[in-house]
Amino acid sequence: MRRKLVVGNWKMHGSRAANAELLAGITQARPFDCDVAVCVPYPYLADTAVSLATSDLRWGAQDCSAHEQGAYTGEVSVGMLAEFGCRYVIVGHSERRGYHAESDQLVADKAKAALARGVTPIVCVGETLAQREAGETDAVVKRQLSAVIHTLGHCVGEMIVAYEPVWAIGTGRTATPEQAQAVHALLRAQLQAATPKAESMVLLYGGSVKPDNAASLFGQKDIDGGLIGGAALKAADFVAICRAA
Ligand code: 13P
Repeated sequence: MRRKLVVGNWKMHGSRAANAELLAGITQARPFDCDVAVCVPYPYLADTAVSLATSDLRWGAQDCSAHEQGAYTGEVSVGMLAEFGCRYVIVGHSERRGYHAESDQLVADKAKAALARGVTPIVCVGETLAQREAGETDAVVKRQLSAVIHTLGHCVGEMIVAYEPVWAIGTGRTATPEQAQAVHALLRAQLQAATPKAESMVLLYGGSVKPDNAASLFGQKDIDGGLIGGAALKAADFVAICRAA
């Protein structure tokens, strides 16, 4: 049995005061039957580490450099994230692939850098609306995952994969549980061909997950939890989603 995981991706939201209130709201609602984490903007990692130190909640970042260190202005290494207790780092979010032109290979290199420092990468894959309408969904997610599989080699089983259809992110338009499950099953099959650990790997769904649709999504055979954007910014909504897992 895979244990469910719910991860809040705060994106570029928050303030020290708002975060303290949000984290207090989540910690007060413990215990949860699933694992719970928040991925916060870099400047808030230190506060988050302090706020969650005595709880079983986990935290992480939303991106990392593929490099260990060096003259890479503006980049943040996984070693730095590890120093602040990050358990997870999201890599390859569609907002990074899209707005920052991140390639499949760069995303794979970031995932590898994360694992090398003991931080679990949450690798995002997903198709755009145009790609879905052109019938390219399977090929796109397969290509995105394939780059990571080849780059990670024997460590493949240690990552988390998040399927986030781009057309469902922040749009209020969620994939139906059946649509999401179909892609998750494909991803798991692809992982099965690459690692004996595929059956125990955690595959998350992301894209307009809300308190009222979380249970039906998380009830699907290959959906092991969610990567939550907008609804992770309100304690009541995020807690309700965690309760649905
Ligand atoms: P929303 O939940 O706001 O659609 O965002 C999903 C997402 O991108 C999480 O990484």
